[in-house]
Amino acid sequence: MIKRIQLLVVLLIFLFIFDFAKNIREGGIIHKTLSYSAEQNSSSDCNSLSNCTPIFSSALILPTPTLGIPENKITENVPVDEKINAPVQNDYCLTVPVLTYHRIQPQSIAVEKNQTAGSVDNEIFDQQMAYLSSSGYSTITAEELINALRNHTGLPAKSVVITLDDGYENAYTYAYLIAQKYQIKLNLMIATGLVGNQDFLIWDQIKEMRNSGLVYFTNHTWSHYAVGNGSYEKIQYEIQTAKGQLEQYTGQTINIFTYPYGSFSPNAIQILQQDGFIGGFSTIPGKVQCESYIMTLHRTSIGNSPLSSYGL
Ligand SMILES: [Zn+2]
Repeated sequence: MIKRIQLLVVLLIFLFIFDFAKNIREGGIIHKTLSYSAEQNSSSDCNSLSNCTPIFSSALILPTPTLGIPENKITENVPVDEKINAPVQNDYCLTVPVLTYHRIQPQSIAVEKNQTAGSVDNEIFDQQMAYLSSSGYSTITAEELINALRNHTGLPAKSVVITLDDGYENAYTYAYLIAQKYQIKLNLMIATGLVGNQDFLIWDQIKEMRNSGLVYFTNHTWSHYAVGNGSYEKIQYEIQTAKGQLEQYTGQTINIFTYPYGSFSPNAIQILQQDGFIGGFSTIPGKVQCESYIMTLHRTSIGNSPLSSYGL
């Protein structure tokens, strides 16, 4: 009888622990979903893309953009079809890692603002850039990579492309300062409608970075729009508005695209090519870049670990 009671007590304790652990796990997921949910729009802070409204200085009356789910939520669970972007016969390919960053800021601020997903600590970013510099890597622009693929030319040994998505203000306050320190090139993927919002770059910072010769810009739509869906007119509007604004403020030709949320489709690619775009970056992981998929090149998402752990 005593043995039975002991067994029952052990079973109850086990069930309690199991249930507790399950709640923690589910709680974590719920919390994560909420922190990026569009329902949080009541906050005037612009801590995540979902809280931000594109603003314009032009006299044009523009529609209110529809912001989707921020990409660091979408890209987490998107299954990658291995057959997408398989090299074809007689393809021209180069092994060039394209590193993806979003925010560069102290980890304490990332925690405070609930931005740890997609944020790399500025001191770690500094160490990562120091590593590239001391290991003989050449940082190149998105344009240099795409031109090499188009023209079937080579690139410096150990070429690497550093990309920062969305145009957060810390691309200027942290990443750009570190880029100057090591004389490395950065590529900023700008959603132009977010420029000037709280926590995002302003046009003067973009101009200054452009004039340094260290920073190259690509089109990331106007409102951070997932171009894999939507009407021809909407996609065209998003691409052309951002292109016009970036060209106006940077003086740089804008003919390379970066898909918000990694969302693309044959339709979007066709529109981009009609508009004169020569290359694009997806969120499909991989270091091999081929001419056959020049409109959906591969990238490697970087976090707070040493770059050697990402195969560099
Ligand atoms: Zn983005």
